[in-house]
Amino acid sequence: MKSKLVVLAGPSGVGKGTVVRELIKQKPEIFLSVSATTRQPRPEEIHDDHYMFLSEEEFQGEVSKGNLLEHAQFAGAWYGTPRKPVEERIKNNQMVVLEIDLQGARQVKKSMPEAFLVMLKPPSTEELKRRLIQRGTENPAELELRLAVAISELEAEFEFDAVVINEDVSSAVSQLITLLHLN
Ligand code: 5GP
Repeated sequence: MKSKLVVLAGPSGVGKGTVVRELIKQKPEIFLSVSATTRQPRPEEIHDDHYMFLSEEEFQGEVSKGNLLEHAQFAGAWYGTPRKPVEERIKNNQMVVLEIDLQGARQVKKSMPEAFLVMLKPPSTEELKRRLIQRGTENPAELELRLAVAISELEAEFEFDAVVINEDVSSAVSQLITLLHLN
């Protein structure tokens, strides 16, 4: 794995955020990109840490200035990766991780074919549903939408360089560490 750009994708609710945060805790030399989004912050989320929370207008401004490496609409909100911090880190030979959705992963692969794409999968769709319900951050309609998107995202497994099943956080993180040759 020579690539310095790692994309971690996988359905909403699979635990990407938890896994990636644990990975950074163990390997603080990795740069975790902070995405921009137009969705409302969840109670525990901090601006500039979890996301840059932007208005629709601010987000579109970033798009038109070419400031986003990729962007996509997901479950009614916009999400995108700020270009500059990622490009700077890669230039300095630092490993960069993007935690993004499937549409974003595809855009990155197109513009930066050297990127290493990892899909984080749930042990089963039933388990994914259980995790999404347990997280309790979506209303029933949003939950149904996220589940439907999740099931279609899982079918794109073959587009990825590697697949990690998130049975539990510590085993998923250690699989990632091995895959990325960080041990
Ligand atoms: P959530 O609203 O649950 O935080 O995120 C919804 C989905 O958007 C997740 O699959 C998450 O990985 C994805 N996402 C987060 N940031 C970005 C981004 O910058 N670009 C893209 N394309 N997707 C993102």
